[in-house]
Amino acid sequence: MILMYSSDLNKLFCQLAKTCPVQMVVEVAPPQGSVIRATAIYKKSEHVAEVVRRCPHHERTPDGDVLAPAAHLIRVEGNSRALYRQDDVTARHSVVVPYEAPQLGAECTTVLYNYMCNSSCMGGMNRRPIMTIITLETQEGQLLGRRSFEVRVCACPGRDRKSEEGNLRKEQETKTLGKTPSTTKRSLTKESSSAPRPEGSKKAKLGTGSDEEIYTLQVRGKERYEMLKKINDSLELSDVVPPSDVDRYRQKLLTKGKKEKEGQTPEPKRGKKLMVKDEKSDSD
Ligand SMILES: [Zn+2]
Repeated sequence: MILMYSSDLNKLFCQLAKTCPVQMVVEVAPPQGSVIRATAIYKKSEHVAEVVRRCPHHERTPDGDVLAPAAHLIRVEGNSRALYRQDDVTARHSVVVPYEAPQLGAECTTVLYNYMCNSSCMGGMNRRPIMTIITLETQEGQLLGRRSFEVRVCACPGRDRKSEEGNLRKEQETKTLGKTPSTTKRSLTKESSSAPRPEGSKKAKLGTGSDEEIYTLQVRGKERYEMLKKINDSLELSDVVPPSDVDRYRQKLLTKGKKEKEGQTPEPKRGKKLMVKDEKSDSD
């Protein structure tokens, strides 16, 4: 199988339309009817507002998949319950499958994804890096967990992975050289656990893990509680929604007038985490 996941880069290197198994680990079993959603977004802030879709050439080329809309980049392989969605507001594409508990003896659930364009496709991704966002949601759309990783779809995933990892190492070496005669370079890059973290962009703070800790706040009075809850809900939501989408939602709200919205914000969840693990491809 030509598939490479680099935990140093938190990046998947794969070939067009090839099987990419992604393993999900949850600490607590989610409620009945929960789903796993995969969405692609552009990594760079200047492109993030744009919907990731297939290039015109691939979109027009028939490939026998009757379930998936031709414009969708990410597909689920071998699951007849996969549902392809387009968000009403943002028009983003996603694919949803029902959450299934791990098989007996296994610790994770595996979903098989396909990427249906190359990163270089003209008129499509056009060499712009993308992220895949995996979310675990209840039937009602409440967010339970989220993980992300970068994806590069190319002809030579193994070669590209090696060269990008090499670049990263060089970068880190030059950084470290400035300060101390480094002997610990390797430990900086190596993640001990197999759970990749979102990396790269502004969200680097996830590093220590303390952000994931849950604190309890006692609040006097229902009104005050609702107020603080609303603030917390917004913060949770803003972790997931790219700023450009927030603007669009805001605009939509404005045009809608003063209609009240309820039950759309995901509630903060206790102790539930979704992890995306790499499929043993880390050993080469
Ligand atoms: Zn294409």
